[in-house]
Amino acid sequence: MEKRKVVLVGTGFVGMSFAYSLFNQGGVNELVLIDVLKDKAKGEALDLAHGIAYSHSKMEIKAGDYGECKDANIVVITAGIAQKPGQTRLELVETNTKITKSIVEQVIETGFKGIFVVASNPVDIMTYVVQKVSGFPHSRVIGSGTMLDTARLRFLIGEKLKLDSTNIHAYVMGEHGDSSFVPWEHAYVGCKKITDIMKERHKSMNDLEKIREDVKKAAYEIIEKKKATYYGIGMALTKLVRAILNDEKTILTVSTYLNGEYDEEDIYIGVPAIVTNKGVREILELPLNEETQEKFSKSCKILKDTMKNLKI
Ligand code: NAD
Repeated sequence: MEKRKVVLVGTGFVGMSFAYSLFNQGGVNELVLIDVLKDKAKGEALDLAHGIAYSHSKMEIKAGDYGECKDANIVVITAGIAQKPGQTRLELVETNTKITKSIVEQVIETGFKGIFVVASNPVDIMTYVVQKVSGFPHSRVIGSGTMLDTARLRFLIGEKLKLDSTNIHAYVMGEHGDSSFVPWEHAYVGCKKITDIMKERHKSMNDLEKIREDVKKAAYEIIEKKKATYYGIGMALTKLVRAILNDEKTILTVSTYLNGEYDEEDIYIGVPAIVTNKGVREILELPLNEETQEKFSKSCKILKDTMKNLKI
């Protein structure tokens, strides 16, 4: 196997859940951990590396500095402050912009030529910041977008219909935040429209909208109960990183740059897109009906309004 190296910046809950999940799923031969708290990164690296004896995959795991990014395939950014109970993701924007900017400047200085994967919140805006500061092609800067929301949606629909969630083809789109939405007109169970299935089961659109509400409230509920959410996003990041490294050509609801798609431009936002080893190859543009297009435009406006006074 050719050398596959991932550098993770931010060894908090999200970063280490991703690292643990990536380690277990394998396919990477070097993982380097960076954190402003150097001892934290060292401790996490040691703890994780001690599992190698019982792991299927062999992976070199160590703490390091930014010089390690020079020959990395992917730099994953999970650094920054997280939501406190009741706080929205958008409220983190100022602090996390400063943190993200300083990280990207240090990565770029090394001559890094790979792909950036971003999870720090508000993730759509942080992904925009990473692209602006790095000057990288938009295809090589990818946010986790609504991947987690989509996973939650598929899980909840699966529970409701008593079906394997891998058979649910439905997306959460828009901001990874309160204005996200589900284009139900493009939601399928197997090859059958979910709206038809609901009718057959004498269930209404309200039942579907209730699921969407639960998805939206999920992070708030988890943060209220255990202060942070991390396993789900850890798995989502692993899926994204492996999709890139394995050139999977798979459709994921990542945060990617719109240049006219959905009548929007100069914005990073969650949409289904095809991910390959070169990054985002193509946006799978869905023909939205009037109502969902309106929701999409509203979501874009909220992000753009938040970015108005952003100093990048
Ligand atoms: P955390 O506080 O546990 O970890 C953050 C880490 O970042 C800490 O270890 C901290 O030392 C480090 N850090 C801070 N400034 C840094 C800098 N300048 N350079 C390097 N490291 C730095 O937080 P968490 O729960 O892991 O959350 C991390 C981020 O992920 C938050 O912004 C959170 O909102 C976001 N998040 C995103 C999703 C998603 O779906 N995209 C889901 C959950 C959380």
